[in-house]
Amino acid sequence: MPTADTPPPSSPASVRNEAHGRCMCGRVKFVARFPSRMAAHCHCESCRRSHSAGFVTWIGFPSDQVVVLEGEQDHVSYESSPGTQRTFCRVCGTKLFFRSTRTERWAKETHIALAAFDDPVDRAPSGHAFYEEHVPWLPFMQVDQPDA
Ligand SMILES: [Zn+2]
Ligand SMILES: [Zn+2]
Repeated sequence: MPTADTPPPSSPASVRNEAHGRCMCGRVKFVARFPSRMAAHCHCESCRRSHSAGFVTWIGFPSDQVVVLEGEQDHVSYESSPGTQRTFCRVCGTKLFFRSTRTERWAKETHIALAAFDDPVDRAPSGHAFYEEHVPWLPFMQVDQPDA
């Protein structure tokens, strides 16, 4: 029986108060409690290189709403620039979190790769960050809410 703490994944995000996620191999599991603060696609070179992807879609939460439930020993981080940590599972390599002290706001937030979630989250991506750095081979994307 699902309890109040673990609603079935089929529940819509509107009736949930948190979302669970994991790395590819499942060793690292986390939960993020709603409300999130933002969700956006980031086109910066650091995100693209770190994830070997055309862009990375992040959802940001206050850091105290994010808890690693399992696999902390396999959840390691890489300092991609001074003050910026990108975390990943050392077994399967899945990229999970971005934490940075570069801005006052970011210092209190944990950005989580949206694709790492199993459950629906409380918002859809609403903008593009660093779109000016986007790769030339992406198909046309609607960019109506630039962010930075
Ligand atoms: Zn893993
Ligand atoms: Zn980025």
